[in-house]
Formats: sequence, structure tokens, C-alpha cells
Amino acid sequence: LDEFSLIKQFFSAPPDTSSTGNGVLVGIGDDAAVIHSEAGKDLLITTDTLISGTHFPEQTSAVAVGHKALAVNLSDIAAMGGQPRWFTLALSLPSADADWLGKFSDGLLSLARQHAVTLVGGDTTRGPLSITISVIGTVSAGEAVKRSGAQPGDAIFVTGSPGMAALALAELEGKIKLTDTEKSDFRRKLEFPRPRLLESQFLRPLVSSMIDISDGLAADLGHILAASDCAAIIEQDSFSDCLRSSTIPRGSIVNAALYGGDDYELLFTVPEKHLSTLERGWQKEFTTLTRIGEVMEGGGIKMTDTSGIDMNITPHGYNHFNDQR
Ligand code: ADP
Ligand code: MG
Repeated sequence: LDEFSLIKQFFSAPPDTSSTGNGVLVGIGDDAAVIHSEAGKDLLITTDTLISGTHFPEQTSAVAVGHKALAVNLSDIAAMGGQPRWFTLALSLPSADADWLGKFSDGLLSLARQHAVTLVGGDTTRGPLSITISVIGTVSAGEAVKRSGAQPGDAIFVTGSPGMAALALAELEGKIKLTDTEKSDFRRKLEFPRPRLLESQFLRPLVSSMIDISDGLAADLGHILAASDCAAIIEQDSFSDCLRSSTIPRGSIVNAALYGGDDYELLFTVPEKHLSTLERGWQKEFTTLTRIGEVMEGGGIKMTDTSGIDMNITPHGYNHFNDQR
């Protein structure tokens, strides 16, 4: 299996990568892809790399690796309120293992099909397993949602149940015990995150700022607050209730949600005037929605618990170079 037959067999099989449709004038097979640009649209461009052993445990299934590599990028497009359209795939592989590649491309391309995003190019090299995907999306001109628009008085919401991915990882590492149901539910969240693209299209006109949770609720809320020059107060019970469990200590749930990351849920702020539209319009087919707090004047994050105790939250999350001077 050489480089070119590998690309042909696993990544350029129609209908996933035809050079027609979706504005693609030239897809895989030339020196660069050619895409027809559209009037009235802004482009969104994002890249993420997944490295084996760092971003996913080495024993992760190839289907999950393929799914997740694209999902984390689609999640960034969702966070901007856009629609993903095209992507490139830079793949570094220790060997051309046809079995692994078949499963990887299944996971990758079935998610791509689901969201009508077209693979238009990439690069294939030999090396330690690492996957870099770049996604190009579109959004109506001037409508991209940034991190910087939050205002004091805005309500803070989160989709889904942040913390499940981190709890799954903790279980894999033998740090906590989970019931069998929890194990499979949480592992599904870790390995097959659902990019919240549907929700994002509904949210775009209603939100003042938005981010996807990749580093943990605390760190990512911290990013919104820093960009918006605001503070926030959040209620511990609101977001830890997303995860009712008899077996996991409450402290672990709160910690996983605040500092765990890898959830790829949307965290966003909503001005008072849009609250009723948000709550009335939230659709059945969307994931769950939880109001967790409020934007305030100032800086930093305060958290209240049931007993009314306030604590300051340090917005740290995963940081690749944390151990360097
Ligand atoms: P070049 O040498 O011109 O950069 P390559 O020989 O690397 O082109 O790749 C040939 C074609 O295959 C290009 O269109 C490239 O975008 C595409 N390609 C290479 N690797 C991948 C991959 N992993 N997934 C999708 N397309 C790929
Ligand atoms: Mg070339």
C-alpha cells in the first residue's frame, strides 16, 4: 500500500470526495483544491492536531480517532456560529495498516457526510500517529460569533453535560470507578463527541459570545471573560446536576466539569432580551441546555454552592507547555 494508492483507497473514494458539488471546483488530486467563493459570506478557518498518547489514549479505536479528529474541528466552527463546508487532512502514520485506515476513514467520513463537509485535500507522511485537520466553514458576512461580546447581565448557558469526557478518561486511567452504564455513556462522549452544529445555527442570532469547551468549563469561560473584559458568577449545582450519579463523588463531578475538558459542548452568553426566544425555541432534537450563571462587571469567576459559600475559581485547564519554564 503506497502513499498514492492509500489516498485513493481511503480518502478519495466518491461520493465523499467528488470534485463536483459543495462549491468544489478541484478536489483531491491536484496541487491545491479550488473552491468557488461566495458573495455575502465570511470564511471561518480552523486547525486542530490530535497526537496519539496526548489527545487520545493509544488504545483508542481507529473509528473513534477518525471521528474525533474531525469532530473537534467542527466544534470550533460551531462555536463561531458557522457551517462547516470543506476540510483537509494531514496524516502522519507509523505504517500503512489497511485495517486501521479502513476504520479510521469510516469514522472520519461518516461524520463528514452527516454534516455535508467535503474532504478536499491533505498530506500523507510516515511518522508517529498524528492527525491534523483544517476545516473551512462559512457564515453570513459579519455574523460570526466571537468570544468578546459578553456584557454584564447576560445569562451564561452550557449545552450537554460537561465533565463526562474527563470522567471517562479518569476511569480509563484507573483513577475512579464507574458503573457499566456510566462507563459506556461517558466513553462515548470522550470518543465520539457530537459537534453542536445544529444548536449553533439556532443560537447564532441570540448569543453575545460563544466558545466550545475543549479545555474545561473554567478555562473556557475564562477565555470569554478575558476577551469580553467581564467577570462571572456560576452555580455549582446547576452544571454538576447535569451529571446525576450515585457512584461518583460530587467533588469529582465538579472538578471534571470545571477542569476536565474534551467535552466539545457550547458555552455561551445571552442578553436578557433574547432569553425567552432561547428558552421557547430550544428544540427537542437539540441536546440539553443548562443555565449556569451570569456575567458581571469586573474580572474572574466566582462559584456559589448550595450552602451559599462563594469561592473563586482559577481558570486553569489543560496546557501543553505548562511544565516548561
Ligand atoms: P503535493 O505533492 O502536490 O503536495 P501530494 O502528492 O502530497 O500533493 O498529494 C496528492 C493529492 O492528494 C493532493 O490533492 C493532496 O491534497 C491529496 N492528499 C494527500 N494526502 C491526503 C489525505 N490524507 N487526505 C486527503 N487528501 C490527501
Ligand atoms: Mg504539488
